[in-house]
Amino acid sequence: MPEQLIFEKSHPGRRGQTFPANHNDFDLNRLLPKDHQRKTDLELPEISENELMRHYTRLSHESYGVDEGFYPLGSCTMKYNPKINEDVARFPGFSDIHPLQPEESVQGALKLLYDLERILAEISGMAQVTLQPVAGAQGEMVGMLIARAYHEKQGRQRKHVIIPDSAHGTNPASAHLAGYTIKTVHSTPEGIIDVDDLRKVVDSDTAALMLTNPNTLGLFERGIGEIVQIVHDAGALLYFDGANLNALLGLTRPGDMACDIMHFNLHKTFSTPHGGGGPGAGPVGVCEKLIPFLPAPRVEKDAERYFLRQDFPASIGRVHSFYGNFGILVRAYTYIRRLGAEGLSEISRNTIINANYLKKQLETLYDIPMHRPCMHEFILSAKNLKTQGIGAWDIAKRLIDYGFYPPTVNFPLIIPEALMIEAPESESRETLDTFAEALFQIRKEVDENPQVLKDAPQSQKLGRLNEVLAARQLNVRYENKK
Ligand SMILES: *Cc1c(COP(=O)(O)O)cnc(C)c1O
Repeated sequence: MPEQLIFEKSHPGRRGQTFPANHNDFDLNRLLPKDHQRKTDLELPEISENELMRHYTRLSHESYGVDEGFYPLGSCTMKYNPKINEDVARFPGFSDIHPLQPEESVQGALKLLYDLERILAEISGMAQVTLQPVAGAQGEMVGMLIARAYHEKQGRQRKHVIIPDSAHGTNPASAHLAGYTIKTVHSTPEGIIDVDDLRKVVDSDTAALMLTNPNTLGLFERGIGEIVQIVHDAGALLYFDGANLNALLGLTRPGDMACDIMHFNLHKTFSTPHGGGGPGAGPVGVCEKLIPFLPAPRVEKDAERYFLRQDFPASIGRVHSFYGNFGILVRAYTYIRRLGAEGLSEISRNTIINANYLKKQLETLYDIPMHRPCMHEFILSAKNLKTQGIGAWDIAKRLIDYGFYPPTVNFPLIIPEALMIEAPESESRETLDTFAEALFQIRKEVDENPQVLKDAPQSQKLGRLNEVLAARQLNVRYENKK
C-alpha cells in the first residue's frame, strides 16, 4: 500500500504527547512581545506518536544508504561512516554548546578546531588551513577569492582560470563566481592533461589552473611536475581540487607537488555522512605566501588558552556563519585520530586495490577506455552496447534490481556513456565480487534480453521516472505513471 503523506494522516485533535496542565504561571507575553506572536496556528499534521514513528520508519525503508549496501557512486566517495564518529559528535561538550559562548567555556571545541587545522596541514603538506567552508564547492570559491586577492595585492588584474575538460562541474562554476572567465585545457587520449595544450592556453592573464589529482577519470596526473612549472612560470597559481585525496593519504601530498591552494572534502575523504545535499565540510589549505588572505576569524593559541582572532587586514573575510559545520569537523577529527598515520595510508592503499581489483574483473566484458592502473576509481563505457540500444543509464537502472546503488553515469563528460565506479576501502572483497557478478549478469542480459534493462528498475515501488519531469515537478506521492 502506498504510504500517505503525513498531512493526509492528520486528524484534528490527535497528539503525540500530552502533558498535565502547567500550574506555574506561564505567561507567553512575558517571553515574546504580542506583535511577535502568531495570529493563526501553524498548520502542522496532528498525529499520534506511534503513527508518526511508523510513518518515518516505513519511509526510511524506501531509501538506500551506505549502511545498507554498496554505494559505488564514483567521484562521491560514499564510504562507511564509523559510528564512533556519531558518538563523539554527540558528546554534550560538542553538541550542547553555542558558538557565541565565552571562549573560556569552549576551550575543548576550540582546541579541536586548532588541532584539526594542523592535522590537515600535515596530511596535505600545506602551510595553513581554514575550516570555514562547508562544501568542496565553497572551498573552491574561497580558493578562487584567495587567488584574486593575491593577484590584486601584487597589483595585477588576471582574467581567466584554466580548467581541464575532465573536471568536476563545480570548478568552472566557482571560478566564474569569483569573477574569472574559463579556459579549457584538453585531455590526452590517455586521460590526463595535455601538457602541450596547457602551454598554449597559459599566458600573463592566467590567474590559476584548477587541477584535480588523481583526476576524475581516476588517473594520477603524471605530468604534475611540468604542469606546476608552466603555471608558476606564468605567475599563476595552482589550485588543487582535493576531492580525491582518499587516493593519496600517506602516499604523497599536494603541498609536496608545489600546489598553492587546495580544498578537502571531509565528507568524502574522512567519512562523515553525506548525500542528499549535505551537510559537508570543505576546508581550504594554502601555501605560505597566501596565509594572509585566509578567511577570518582564525583559531589561535597563546600560553594559556585558545581564542578566535579577527584582525587580518588582507583576509578575504568570513565565508560562513560561526566556524563552519562544527559537527562534521568533530566527525572527521574522530575518524583521523582513531586511524592514526598508519591507518590513513592503509585507506589509500586499500582504496586503490579495491578499484583495480574490480576494474580487472570487468575488463573482459565492458569497454574500459583508460587502460592504465587506476587510483581510487575507474570508468566503464557502455558506448559499444549502443547497437543493442543500451546505454549507461540502462545498466545503472538495472543494477538497482540487483540490489546496488547505481554508479555515477554520463560523467566525466569526455567519456561517452560513462559509468564511474568507486569502491571505497570500507568495502570487502565479497561485496566487490557480488557487484562484479551483477554486472556480468547484466552484460549477458544485454545480449539475451535487452528489454529487461529498458524496463528496469522492476524491483522498486517506482519504475523508471522521467528524470527531467521528476526534478521540475516534484511529486512525493507514489503514483507509478509509466
Ligand atoms: C565532489 C567533488 C567536488 C565538489 O564537492 P562538494 O562537497 O560536493 O561541493 C569538487 N570536485 C570534485 C573532483 C569532486 O569529486
